[in-house]
Amino acid sequence: MITGKPFLSENNINTRIRELAEEITNDYNGKSLVVVGLLKGAFMFFSDLVRHIQVPITVDFIIASSYVMSSTSGKVKVHADIREQVRGRHVLLVEDIVDTGLTLNHIRDNLLSRAPESLKICTLLDKKERRVVNVPLDYVGFTVPNKFLVGYGLDYDNQFRNLPYISVFKKSG
Ligand code: 5GP
Repeated sequence: MITGKPFLSENNINTRIRELAEEITNDYNGKSLVVVGLLKGAFMFFSDLVRHIQVPITVDFIIASSYVMSSTSGKVKVHADIREQVRGRHVLLVEDIVDTGLTLNHIRDNLLSRAPESLKICTLLDKKERRVVNVPLDYVGFTVPNKFLVGYGLDYDNQFRNLPYISVFKKSG
């Protein structure tokens, strides 16, 4: 169940996204960008972010899921890959939340093997204290504590993704 007031309100999220988009626009001034969203979780953040980025972009998506094998290793299954060629292009990977970092690390290595001109990562949420592998994060919306969050794309059992804000989820009972 969801308790209390939102952890991050719609207003908090929107304000921060505009700041991130401005930073990205400044950093890629005069360049074009392939923005790659990691689904499903990043779908809402992705669409709100790209509408404020003011350099030419193309968009693409990866659908992936991760299975944690142990506290320091995980297996990531890519269900659908990007169709864009990224060789020699600037790529921005957009994620909803980085927890252990295992998923992002795998996807990052995979994209780097295709020789992009550059690869940066933008995540809305960073659960820093849970990190197992060190993935370089270039743009971070909010650093969050070790709580299970839902809403704004984040799910519990595929529910709550449509909430326009982010809340802490607690199993009832
Ligand atoms: P990592 O590979 O970094 O451990 O896991 C990243 C993925 O775990 C995220 O893309 C997300 O699907 C899931 N995840 C991690 N923390 C949370 C959380 O607090 N809430 C939800 N809904 N998913 C989370």
